[in-house]
Amino acid sequence: MATARVERLRRNSGGALVRGGSSAEKHRALPIFPRMTSSLLAEVQRTADTAGLNLFGLVDAARFDACQPRERRARALRPRCGTLLVLGTGGRVFWQRYAQRGGVAAEAGESAASRLVSSGMRGVVDVLALRRVPAHPILAGDPRIAFARLAEAAGFGTISPVSGLLVHPEYGPWIAVRGAILVDGMPFGSVADASITDRFQPCCTCNRPCVSACPAHVHDGAGNQDVARCASHRHAGNCEPACGSRAACPVGAGHRDGPGEFAHRHVHPLGELRRNFGLGVWRFVPAFLRQFRPRP
Ligand code: SF4
Ligand code: SF4
Repeated sequence: MATARVERLRRNSGGALVRGGSSAEKHRALPIFPRMTSSLLAEVQRTADTAGLNLFGLVDAARFDACQPRERRARALRPRCGTLLVLGTGGRVFWQRYAQRGGVAAEAGESAASRLVSSGMRGVVDVLALRRVPAHPILAGDPRIAFARLAEAAGFGTISPVSGLLVHPEYGPWIAVRGAILVDGMPFGSVADASITDRFQPCCTCNRPCVSACPAHVHDGAGNQDVARCASHRHAGNCEPACGSRAACPVGAGHRDGPGEFAHRHVHPLGELRRNFGLGVWRFVPAFLRQFRPRP
């Protein structure tokens, strides 16, 4: 049923929605961008999929930047950026790829997930470099880009006006935006608006269990999250192994992480929260130094 809903959205969006799943599904989706059949885009998408990055979308940098404050624009980071290649994971494909590489999902942690994501992003940059297309990877969580908004622009779903969670038509909240590649120019041609927010609004007909399920009252029910409160709650050892708010959402419930899987346990990894809010050892590090991120 969820798949039918995605297909309906794809048709209504003029084919601009790309969503992951099996490789076969994604390859069927390739012709939906004007120049999607180009070998470069197909190769880039295949490379990302190999690392489990099964959500893939293109965003016009000028269009995205027009809606962003000056300090959070893609072209403030890279002035020649014309295209944003957005990468994410939905459902269990991520750990299936991990297992194909010999890993055991139940024994893996956030660092294993980060390594797999980083290798996928480096692979994409390498593919582009071979075609002489300069590009710069940036990991999700970097505060210089509003990744949730970028994911919406890439057609990954709709940010809930109730919980603030990003909800995908098929995977529900069991997705993660992993990063973006800032690509110079427009090597894939012009990029259509892929957003589905005008057609996909699941919260309008929901009784909002995501709000009541949070023991720390992080959600105000109007889309705002007190992330600092969530960070303190989790830093104290709560909400492991999963976010009760996310688990309560009925959309995409069949795509929840399996036992031991870390892929989509939380919107924000605990390590990132500690860093951002100066918890644990990070309390000794000045805020301006905590902002520096390793290059993927
Ligand atoms: S992790 Fe826990 S405290 Fe944070 S939003 Fe989810 S349920 Fe609430
Ligand atoms: S539980 Fe309902 S209100 Fe909350 S994010 Fe999911 S669909 Fe929206």
